[in-house]
Amino acid sequence: MATYKEFHQYSIEQPDAFWTEQAQLIDWKEPFTQVCDFSRPPFAKWFVGGKTNLCHNAIDRHAAKRPNDNALIFVSTETDEEKIYSFAELQTEVERMAAIYKGLGVKKGDRVLIYMPMIPQAAFAMFAAARIGAIHSVVFGGFASGSLATRIDDAKPALIVSSDAGMRGGKAVPYKHLLDEAIEIAEHKPAHVLMVDRGLDKGFNKVAGRDVDYATLREQNLNARVECEWLESSEPSYILYTSGTTGKPKGVQRDTGGYAVALASSMKHIYCGNEGETYFSTSDIGWVVGHSYIIYGPLIAGMATIMYEGTPLRPDPGIWWQIVEKYKVSVMFSAPTAARVLKKQDPAYMHKYDLSSLKHVFMAGEPLDQPTHEWFQNELGRPVIDNYWQTETGWPMLAALHGVEKTPIKFGSPSFPVYGYNLKIFREDGSECGANEKGIAAVIPPLPPGCLSTVWGQDDRFVSTYFTLFKEPLVYSSYDWAIKDEDGYFTILGRTDDVINVAGHRLGTREIEEAVQNHPAIAEVAVVGIEDKLKGQVPMAFAVVKDASKVATPEMVKALEKEVFATVDGILGAIGRPARVHFVTGLPKTRSGKMLRRSLQALAEGRDPGDLTTIEDPSTLENIKKLLAG
Ligand code: ATP
Ligand code: MG
Repeated sequence: MATYKEFHQYSIEQPDAFWTEQAQLIDWKEPFTQVCDFSRPPFAKWFVGGKTNLCHNAIDRHAAKRPNDNALIFVSTETDEEKIYSFAELQTEVERMAAIYKGLGVKKGDRVLIYMPMIPQAAFAMFAAARIGAIHSVVFGGFASGSLATRIDDAKPALIVSSDAGMRGGKAVPYKHLLDEAIEIAEHKPAHVLMVDRGLDKGFNKVAGRDVDYATLREQNLNARVECEWLESSEPSYILYTSGTTGKPKGVQRDTGGYAVALASSMKHIYCGNEGETYFSTSDIGWVVGHSYIIYGPLIAGMATIMYEGTPLRPDPGIWWQIVEKYKVSVMFSAPTAARVLKKQDPAYMHKYDLSSLKHVFMAGEPLDQPTHEWFQNELGRPVIDNYWQTETGWPMLAALHGVEKTPIKFGSPSFPVYGYNLKIFREDGSECGANEKGIAAVIPPLPPGCLSTVWGQDDRFVSTYFTLFKEPLVYSSYDWAIKDEDGYFTILGRTDDVINVAGHRLGTREIEEAVQNHPAIAEVAVVGIEDKLKGQVPMAFAVVKDASKVATPEMVKALEKEVFATVDGILGAIGRPARVHFVTGLPKTRSGKMLRRSLQALAEGRDPGDLTTIEDPSTLENIKKLLAG
């Protein structure tokens, strides 16, 4: 048994030996001849010459041995449906979908854009593309037509797979007119649109010659067999756009072999998920967590995966725990924003269910503040593991590796660099930070298997976006601000863009947010730095209270603001104290649940809020604008 440190060191010092071992976790049709080709930095190619297929590794190889075991478990609390597909059934459905693709003229290398709700057909659509070597590009269902049009023009799909509607909080959200609008706006026109008709939007528009019906074509392909297309390891599997928290989304291009190996290896060493168990990720297929840890990762590891359509609160806040009990979930994956929602609910909803199957809960996507982390782990009585990564990397960069060594969890920290990532914290001059010194997190390339190969169609943008932090050394960075303590535990303090410079002291937004979060009345908070003549910048907080009656009058607002100041003073000192705490009913977030601090900051400084195409609820910003004006 290695310690996590030895494991990490081995991966960095002997990458060829290390990754050759990890590569045994998947099936190869033809063996690779070179582990890593890094002859053209910063571009890296993994497992050169090897041939494999993601769909084969996720489905066929398990279907051959355990055809009747659970593979895909669909649970919708929106339509009250539950349906289980065994590995054999899943393979059959994917082959039918793949046959439909072929019938519509989709070939290897063509793009298939998927704009769908969380239904099994969306998974079939992804796997069918992977099966025939087409490149899928999933766009979060319900994105507005403008955002969708940009992605259509960037990916230039031969086929779009969509559905009449999604469901949200018990109501149908029609998609088809958004898609029609998007195709209208876009310069590129797909040859076909394959429609999965859920019967939720009866009168949706059908374009003759272009739109085709899934149920009809499936019926014609019931017995179709479509073999897997064996792809060279670095051939692309998919394109996925980043969340757009900091600006215009980037089209991340993923390879095939490196991704399969990285996921298989992460299931073992990070997620501790075993064949035959059940994985429950509450994310959406529109995000990277959905790609890696709803669709591909769990199935590659031979686990059953739950696809959940619904919110954490309907029919009641116990729903996720009820699912854990019913399907004996062993690994759960969610986001800090969901944990903060659950924290506002009565914990009895959690304790009502038998959670004995559950071994670990993972959290990623945003800083998991220390009070929420502590609350969640204590309430659950099992490790809650924060993991830090990005759409770009496809799998964790920082995490506790409980599959290697059961290191203690420090609340508020995603622990250590994951094997394969030579991740360090740098000063602005390119030298390395010492313990407890804030700096920019960056990885010395090559990036490990599974990470982006390039930005789709824009090699120059790949280099200029991610590899130009310093002249020397060459590093990959997505500009997150971080600190490492004397035991080697990392903390992500926020984005470098969001760092607040108060009279020469640099504070991450996360530090102040976490301090505010320590006040028991606060449910959620966003802090931004705003211009100040005297101090350069001052922090300003926008907070949602757990109980709105606590801020019913101007006097109560003043009193609570004072208490919050005192809480922050006690933790960070007066330097971190916000100039104001504004109590609001909601905060602006991206559809993937990330705080849009840049828009808040712009409003607070009286500027235009910028690109809002990925915002979840525009009314949050409207309300804040009114509040600031009056
Ligand atoms: P864009 O790159 O388009 O601005 P984005 O960075 O939000 O959007 P994602 O790939 O969805 O796109 O998010 C990755 C980012 O999310 C990370 O760079 C980091 O800022 C944040 N993040 C993810 N996980 C964590 C975590 N566990 N702790 C702190 N921050 C995290
Ligand atoms: Mg980013």
